[in-house]
Amino acid sequence: MATINQNYQKLPGCYLFAEIARRVAAYKEAHPEADIIRLGIGDVTQPLPQVCIDAMHKAVDEMAHQETFRGYGPEQGYPFLIEAIREHNYTKRGIQIASDEIFVSDGSKSDTGNIQEIFGLDNKVAITDPVYPVYLDTNVMAGRTGEMQENGYFAGVTYLPSNADNGFTPDLPKEHVDMIYLCCPNNPTGTTLSREALTKWVNYAKENDAVILFDAAYAAYISEPEVPRSIYEIPGATDCAIEFRSFSKTAGFTGTRCGYTVIPKTVTGKAADGSRVRFRDLWNRRHTTKFNGTAYIVQRGAAAIYTDEGQAQIKELISYYMENARIIREGLKSAGITAYGGINAPYIWLKTPNDMPSWDFFDKLLTEVNIVGTPGAGFGPCGEGYFRLTSFGDRENTKRAVERIKTQLHI
Ligand SMILES: *Cc1c(COP(=O)(O)O)cnc(C)c1O
Repeated sequence: MATINQNYQKLPGCYLFAEIARRVAAYKEAHPEADIIRLGIGDVTQPLPQVCIDAMHKAVDEMAHQETFRGYGPEQGYPFLIEAIREHNYTKRGIQIASDEIFVSDGSKSDTGNIQEIFGLDNKVAITDPVYPVYLDTNVMAGRTGEMQENGYFAGVTYLPSNADNGFTPDLPKEHVDMIYLCCPNNPTGTTLSREALTKWVNYAKENDAVILFDAAYAAYISEPEVPRSIYEIPGATDCAIEFRSFSKTAGFTGTRCGYTVIPKTVTGKAADGSRVRFRDLWNRRHTTKFNGTAYIVQRGAAAIYTDEGQAQIKELISYYMENARIIREGLKSAGITAYGGINAPYIWLKTPNDMPSWDFFDKLLTEVNIVGTPGAGFGPCGEGYFRLTSFGDRENTKRAVERIKTQLHI
């Protein structure tokens, strides 16, 4: 008899985006003429930078000739990409990361989801609330949690509330934890953690023999010079942190797929016999066993962003989205709505007027001004009373949406 992984039964259905789609479809059915603008999407909309397109075309041509054809590449990624990542994102910033501490992949969703496999099932997990759902759900699937409780929290997980009251900077946990997921700049709140806050976390991890799993998918959106771009800018972090990066939001690779994970050899965990084992070695074992490398063509496209021309093009791409973020932020402000984020991230996290529940505000926005966003409650109990808008739309729609909020929404 084939039985199932019972842990999957603990997960609620994929409620958030399905419920949004259901409500939008119902509204459209009743109001076929409605001109609906979507500011809920977490996907980019602008085409790939020209340097990436040119590099990928060239790589396709190489595949057409026996002398330049490539089959399986190194599972960890091609040296041309690893060296470009290392030089540009680490060495240049004074951070020492070795080539064999960087693992190229098909994106950060897989990496942030798979990383927990190299940790024991008895580790205590801490996540922020609200949170990118991948960190929690993959630990539920693995059996590192109990059942979901009445209040929406899973038993056995340490939640770190993150809201306007604490400036979106969660306090250190009161109980001991072993694995700490941090996302900075944050999806969904669009906020960042300061150098001081990150230092507190690194010190906690070192004192408690814990590991920080640092998702920096939005690092390229940081505009304020004082915000760290990498957890490794914090002294001691190379002893206790794993960093995830992605080309998805940086260069529009959401459909093209490329990311990477950095695991310094100095990040170790305890084995049953009491010895210390490098997480890097376990990840290398996992990666080479379960993954056969990201497509050569895609890696060529990714490497192209590290040329001078590539840097200029991704800067322009990110500026486009961040100008949308500014338009949304300032529009909300002039409409009298309090909003956070949108300065170092493409997300704006607004406080619903009069503490309206997130889903009520969703309906209000949809029916009064035909705009679709994402209810904060969908990202965790602490997201209740908040609402996420994204700046990934095109300029014209973003402007029209903000104008409607300013002139037609009854607050
Ligand atoms: C978009 C996103 C990623 C990137 O995922 P990919 O699989 O690389 O496309 C990672 N983490 C967060 C929080 C994100 O929002």
